[in-house]
Amino acid sequence: MSQQGYVATPPYSQAQPGMGGYPTGFGATPSQPHYGHYGTPPQPFAPQQPGGLKPAASSPSGMPPPPVSSQYGSPIHQNGTHPQKFPPSPAVSASAISPYGQPPQRPTYHSMAQVTPPTQQLTNQMSSMSIGGYGQSQMQSPQSPTSSAAPQPFQMPSPPAMGHPPLSLPGSQPPLMSACPPVSSVPSMGATGAPPMGMPNSQTGLPPMVGGGFQQAAGPQGFPPQPGPYGGQVPGSPIAGPQAGAFPGGFPGGAGHMAGPPQKKLDPDSIPSTTQVIEDDQAKRGGQLYTTNLRGQVPPLVTTDFTVQDQGNASPRFMRCTAYTFPCTSDLAKQCQVPLATIIKPFATVPQNETPVYLVNHGEAGPIRCNRCKAYMCPFMLFIEGGRRYQCVFCSCVNEVPVHYFQHLDHMGRRVDLYERPELSLGSYEFTATLDYCKNNKPPNPPAYIFMIDVSYNNIKSGLVKLICEELKTLLDHLPKEEGAESSAIKVGFVTYNKVLHFYNVKSALAQPQMMVVSDVTEMFVPLLDGFLVNFQESRNVINNLLDQIPDMFADTGESETVFSPVVQAGVEALKAAECSGKLFIFHSSLPTAEAPGKLKNRDDRKLVNTEKEKTLFQPQRGVYEQLAKECVAQGCCVDLFVFPNQYVDIATMGNISTLTGGSVYKYNNFQVQMDGDHFLSDLRRDVEKSIGFDAIMRVRTSTGFRATEFFGAIYMNNTTDIEMAAVDCDKAVTVEFKHDDTLSEETGALIQCALLYTSINGQRRLRVHNLSLNCSSQLSELYKSCETDALINFFAKSAYHAMLTQPVKTVREILVKQTAHMLACYRKNCANPSAASQLILPDAMKVFPVYMNSLMKTPALVGSTELSTDDRAFHRLKVMSLGVEESQVLLYPRLIPVHSMDITSETVPAAVRCSEERLTETGAFLLENGQSLFLWLGQACSPDLIQNLFNVPSLAHLNPDMTSLPELDNAHSKQIRSIISVISKQRPNSMKMVIVKQKDRSEIQFRQHLMEDKGLHGGASYMDFLCYVHREIRQLLT
Ligand SMILES: [Zn+2]
Repeated sequence: MSQQGYVATPPYSQAQPGMGGYPTGFGATPSQPHYGHYGTPPQPFAPQQPGGLKPAASSPSGMPPPPVSSQYGSPIHQNGTHPQKFPPSPAVSASAISPYGQPPQRPTYHSMAQVTPPTQQLTNQMSSMSIGGYGQSQMQSPQSPTSSAAPQPFQMPSPPAMGHPPLSLPGSQPPLMSACPPVSSVPSMGATGAPPMGMPNSQTGLPPMVGGGFQQAAGPQGFPPQPGPYGGQVPGSPIAGPQAGAFPGGFPGGAGHMAGPPQKKLDPDSIPSTTQVIEDDQAKRGGQLYTTNLRGQVPPLVTTDFTVQDQGNASPRFMRCTAYTFPCTSDLAKQCQVPLATIIKPFATVPQNETPVYLVNHGEAGPIRCNRCKAYMCPFMLFIEGGRRYQCVFCSCVNEVPVHYFQHLDHMGRRVDLYERPELSLGSYEFTATLDYCKNNKPPNPPAYIFMIDVSYNNIKSGLVKLICEELKTLLDHLPKEEGAESSAIKVGFVTYNKVLHFYNVKSALAQPQMMVVSDVTEMFVPLLDGFLVNFQESRNVINNLLDQIPDMFADTGESETVFSPVVQAGVEALKAAECSGKLFIFHSSLPTAEAPGKLKNRDDRKLVNTEKEKTLFQPQRGVYEQLAKECVAQGCCVDLFVFPNQYVDIATMGNISTLTGGSVYKYNNFQVQMDGDHFLSDLRRDVEKSIGFDAIMRVRTSTGFRATEFFGAIYMNNTTDIEMAAVDCDKAVTVEFKHDDTLSEETGALIQCALLYTSINGQRRLRVHNLSLNCSSQLSELYKSCETDALINFFAKSAYHAMLTQPVKTVREILVKQTAHMLACYRKNCANPSAASQLILPDAMKVFPVYMNSLMKTPALVGSTELSTDDRAFHRLKVMSLGVEESQVLLYPRLIPVHSMDITSETVPAAVRCSEERLTETGAFLLENGQSLFLWLGQACSPDLIQNLFNVPSLAHLNPDMTSLPELDNAHSKQIRSIISVISKQRPNSMKMVIVKQKDRSEIQFRQHLMEDKGLHGGASYMDFLCYVHREIRQLLT
């Protein structure tokens, strides 16, 4: 077997708990199978006989088909896949398209307003407050979300004093805080056991309590009274509610908040620290091999470095769940309100030292699937009757094993070829799809990339057009190609446009490119078929010639009006004509106001912020755009949009086309080649080169008792189950929420199978399958133990951003706070040891959950500030919808890395410090990154040596703050910081433009809004205040 071959590693031969080990009694009573449940006719034998094609060609010889080694011997290119029969094309044609992605939902987003927290009713209350229920009106109260009426729970008499918990976090014990009692007086901090400043939490700990415990020194009564952050309306706070004490979403905010009598300084180290949690996990699980052989195993944090070995469950890089133990019943699920969801990144990049996904080829027989539910063969399937049949673990249907797939069982009841077959022993693998997984039963053509450049006045003048054309000459040599292939199979085409479109014939036989102009943009068509989409290698000369000419051709243009929708239309038409899928790279700069379909008008009205109508700012324009998105998805046409705006361009509408087609949006405000050129080119290169699958459709199947109900991502939903993506790349993640529809069994657990059917970059139709098994428990404590905060926050971010299309952002924020309190209150009530109400008790796995939730509410999209540009907010919203867990984690809690004091001899990135201004020092230098932005902050008293070493200037005053990268200087400090920046950049899907910030300069404002533990510059509470607020909510729920 070649080194590429699939070799069972030693651990494989050991029993694998959680897989294979399904109760044997399982097989006995096949429930009456309903064949064809999903549309395929019942077939007694061979699965999936390609409908009518090749009838008996596959005469199985009774032995496993193709030799194992050649079968999945070659690792496949990391690319997408996807399952499910291919009903997509027809589906898209009909009328009943439900708008954008999600089935229409009632706009009611339950307002918490009516829920009073009577004692003893906690359970009921909690069950009516699901955030997961955004948009579904399970609550009867038709109460308008308008709610200036403040939710009752918040109507406390008067803002009790804010306290700050002095508290201690015993290492791994659930943190407990004696939080914010409405007290006024101030016990000395010393008495409360608060750690001395600066002392690591772990040392300040109180004696651990058993069980749920946290402990805390008793009676901390107090925290210095603070002027009501939550209580009073804060003047100037854009989000403050009208009534004092009554605005959940509105905590804090404004500048007024911190005003007031000087307060006793509370130890910020006393509240749970994200950086500490990250460090602890790295220390405990970093560098280790994570084998996926256990059901319900909670993986290391996304921030931890670890190596994955697939032993039957998908790597956490592909699937990460909010909880790894699901509650058995829907009552329990409703009671705790912990969302049950998984975040799937089907093409996640697999590090070099991990095994790539194997490709399995069953030849003409195609993948083996359950006759009833259509689940794919996987390690969980249970073989019975000597191997002649197998029981589907998803639906219990008993299926015949096709003759060609038969294998004997060993004494443990396992197939003897178990470890030779990826689909029987691995959590993730791919199948080669047969023709009946292809549109019209024809193998697909390789995809095409079409570059569409806006050549209106602004783009010419800024030098952007020239920059793009120059770059493409070399970039096109890096189009993605199949592993081992000599060159890329992807074809390329070129269009330029302003009010009209120009198509180019770049056929290799031509001496000069030819331009064809289409000036009637109302009925877009492609004026040439032959010579428009070509192989770059073959047409290199003509293409380079064209790229040289474009900037000159339009050098004198005075045209400033543009069209947009016809450009996308032209792209789709070109792909249709070539019968292929592909991607449009659109480089656009202005609001498309020229007379044409999809003409947009300026609807930016910041007066709507914080009103009922704020949501309209984020709702895309429909009509033409809706139809266009539908056509794009049907054709497998992904739209990547690079926008270079000087003013409002309606990102909510233009960017939505990208989001619905699995594409990306990049935005460069006030683009200047000098300042932003590298940043943009770096994004463009990554985008062109990244691994990707096209024309994809994904289905998430589950074992009985629960099912996928909500889907968030850069996706298109035409019905309630099929997740369509014109393309899906290695950075795109889909968040899927589950709901119970029956009781789950502790014995069999809960199984999830995600199958993605897609076209690879060389035009092969494939299926990528990811399987994951979870535990189930009737104990809520088991659920809380297995929670994954980073995944939870990804879910909350996407569900909240989805909800804000139909609800006022204030309502969305209120629900986030309420749900945070409910989740924690339920833990306190059901899982923690009894303790004084003054203590805040957090589940260990969720101890930093509040800081993320607070951070989420301060994001541009949700903060509701008139100071932020509407396009920036819309952009942020769209961006987040497709993020994976790793990206949402760092976005909501950026890394703040001190670089003035690091060990110059070490190669590792220094440990991050808490994201707060308090951690900055005048003499220091800090890097801050959140995956989208990168800042280098320099303290006023920063050492001149450091400045000299990094910038080659004698002092801060000499420093040009406009520089976006560090000069390459030959000294250790410079090299090391540049190396750190390079390491960080490589970890992120986007390039980040470095911004130099001098302490106290104006640019510091931009930087400070990323200090997530502090009060938000545009509104939003500090972490400490938020925690106290939540604690009060919890206490109310519990009394
Ligand atoms: Zn089944």
